[in-house]
Amino acid sequence: MSGIGKLRRGQGHERRRRGGKQRKVLMNTIQDLIALVSRAEHCVALTGAGISTLSGIPDFRGPDGLYRRKDIDANKIFDLQYFLQDPSYYYRHAGSFLYNLDEKEPNIIHTTLAKLEEKGILKAVITQNIDMLHQKAGSHTVYELHGSPLRHHCLQCGVVYSYEEIVLSAKKGKTPRCTKCGGIIKPDIVFFGEALPENALNMAEQHARKADLMLVLGSSLTVYPAAAIPEVTVQCGGKVAIINASPTHLDRYAAWKGNDLAEAVTALREALVPDRHRES
Ligand SMILES: [Zn+2]
Repeated sequence: MSGIGKLRRGQGHERRRRGGKQRKVLMNTIQDLIALVSRAEHCVALTGAGISTLSGIPDFRGPDGLYRRKDIDANKIFDLQYFLQDPSYYYRHAGSFLYNLDEKEPNIIHTTLAKLEEKGILKAVITQNIDMLHQKAGSHTVYELHGSPLRHHCLQCGVVYSYEEIVLSAKKGKTPRCTKCGGIIKPDIVFFGEALPENALNMAEQHARKADLMLVLGSSLTVYPAAAIPEVTVQCGGKVAIINASPTHLDRYAAWKGNDLAEAVTALREALVPDRHRES
């Protein structure tokens, strides 16, 4: 198992940090954040549901999220065993939260991260989201820890289907079947009972180790192992800047902490990747 798995189990890092080199003093002006990002040599972003609420996508676990809905049993929807028995339950309901994502647009946070990557400032985006908006915004190096509906595959013969091939029938609540063998088609998002995608997790850990700055954006760091990724950066001597509406367990180790994502990211964009008309 990776170091991320070890972190989750071990509490040793807590002791190491106390005597460690991490700064405890928060630098909390936007200029400090801009300075951190512009000085970083290997800056990586970890994003969570909070960055997509601005695009009208409710946090699954938030007040308007899937887990609060009375008409859907979210645990059943994403349960692998249940899906194998009856995929129609998932496809009957997923049109209201997954097969409507093609109608959503990236917001300033997604587009700024894409621009930061284009300029070579940001090396990778690691995301807990399954809404495909980083790719839509133009980010190339994206590691989706919970998988992605960009791909679906037949559980019987393995044929791959794109989101576009599935979305039209799924919007109508129809259950697609493999055109080659009639098998069940499953989205490549992680269901309960499935492991996280190994490659995404390994790459996330590599970037976390290498990062001298990790931006944690819109994640309350409650879902593991994603939540352990910035812990790896802290352990390896990197800095973490957290911008999230609510507190996280890593706040006291953060070099920078803010709660207004749009404000902080707008400032980063204006300072580091200004729009052309602003440059002239
Ligand atoms: Zn098939």
